[in-house]
Amino acid sequence: MNRYPILLTTICVIFYCQSCGQEKQSTGKIDYPKLREQMVQQQLIARGIQDTTVLAVMRKVPRHLFVPEKYRAEAYNDYPLPIGEGQTISQPYIVALMTESLKLKPQEKVLEIGTGSGYQAAVLAEITKNVYTIEILPSLATTAAKRLTELGYTSVKVKCGDGYQGWKEYAPFDAIIVTCAPEDIPKALVDQLKDGGRMVIPVGEIPNQMLYLVEKRKGTVVRKGIIPVLFVPMVHGK
Ligand code: SAH
Repeated sequence: MNRYPILLTTICVIFYCQSCGQEKQSTGKIDYPKLREQMVQQQLIARGIQDTTVLAVMRKVPRHLFVPEKYRAEAYNDYPLPIGEGQTISQPYIVALMTESLKLKPQEKVLEIGTGSGYQAAVLAEITKNVYTIEILPSLATTAAKRLTELGYTSVKVKCGDGYQGWKEYAPFDAIIVTCAPEDIPKALVDQLKDGGRMVIPVGEIPNQMLYLVEKRKGTVVRKGIIPVLFVPMVHGK
């Protein structure tokens, strides 16, 4: 049960040493665009992410501005990072893989459950103006909304609430992306998906979690496993 934290700590130390030493400019500043490009090459393209829009977006969004200051130098490394309140921002590869699997087109309407830092919402906002995101923890929702506005992602609508209910007011959605793991696919989310819509969602408890692509076709729901993952649980609202 305790293997993950130990492994994660070890990986953090290794990557921290690698990244910080190398990419400091002569001014002592960290070269974030360079780290971002390395992340795209070494973590995304090398592992099979091919969608040119997704790669362009991952090259553009300043991930380091979505993590606490003390983790900025590590923002482009190959692992998740803490964002406060015991929550984490997913590793870059998982963000890219989920976004690619959504096959989101410009103008489509997408709902995210689990705003967290707002990074995934910003990635989506680079593809479509119609991004809706729900976060259950008020402090994270407030910080993410402020951050998204400050960084120019003004079209993203952030709500503090329970993602199990979806967002009826704006349903149906062309796509839904869930970044916390429920035990089962929430019915309200399937109901709020358009016919022909796609949902990417991690399901199950650690260590038996699986990322699924769920497609709704003429009322039937087809789900396909993508890869095993480790997401924080999707909690029930009180
Ligand atoms: N997508 C985020 C990372 C999400 S971490 C990013 O890019 O930074 C998962 C988030 O899901 C956490 O912030 C957690 O508080 C939130 N969460 C958990 N259960 C939830 C629920 N029922 N409804 C909405 N958000 C939930």
